[in-house]
Amino acid sequence: MGTGAGASSIYDGLVSSSLMLLADHQPFCLVDLGLGVGREVVKTFGEFPRDIIITHNHSDHAGDLPVVLRVELAKGHRCNVIGQTQVIERLKTHRVAEHFEQLSAEELADWQAAECGELTALQHGLSIEFYPGVHSELSYGFVIRDHNHHPRLSYTADSRLEDALYETLAKADVFILDARSKPNAWHAAFDEVKPWLKKGVYILGHGLSSQQIDHAFEELPLLKPQQRIAF
Ligand SMILES: [Zn+2]
Repeated sequence: MGTGAGASSIYDGLVSSSLMLLADHQPFCLVDLGLGVGREVVKTFGEFPRDIIITHNHSDHAGDLPVVLRVELAKGHRCNVIGQTQVIERLKTHRVAEHFEQLSAEELADWQAAECGELTALQHGLSIEFYPGVHSELSYGFVIRDHNHHPRLSYTADSRLEDALYETLAKADVFILDARSKPNAWHAAFDEVKPWLKKGVYILGHGLSSQQIDHAFEELPLLKPQQRIAF
């Protein structure tokens, strides 16, 4: 849906880093719902899927969550928020606290928490397993596998380059990693991830505009807003 980061979503108008999973062109699971993502989902699909995976509680990955959960509930559409156990706890305690005079977290949505090593079922026979990233906020990447346990899609979420994490996630048909143009303690850098780039690997979270992608970094597999990957 978008490729922005916290500052670039507010100051440059980019939609925050997020993905929509589609089957037969129908959206069935959103990955991250940060600043600007809610509007983009409404514009593109007209509605939210029930399943929403949240990788961590930064505003560019979860900032739109409280409003979307509340509005969807009022419409009779109760969302199911999926995440690693401690991330879900932070979201329930802090992110949705603006509703506590009226609704508890449990009343607001369903929350599906998974420990690392635990599989959580998604639609279409898929399952998700979370893996810890290394980031300035507790953050978890994931692998989504099909019914044969074949890894179809993986995403580091926000994380610096960690060999063990990358080795696990690189086995998926499509591997999406977080990297930035300049070195940073909490994100991988373009130069660092170059050895990991091969067919099926893409870079998200770079915070660059479509124009910058086309002109400054055309040799890198940088995802663009609204880009679709078929696999
Ligand atoms: Zn982050």
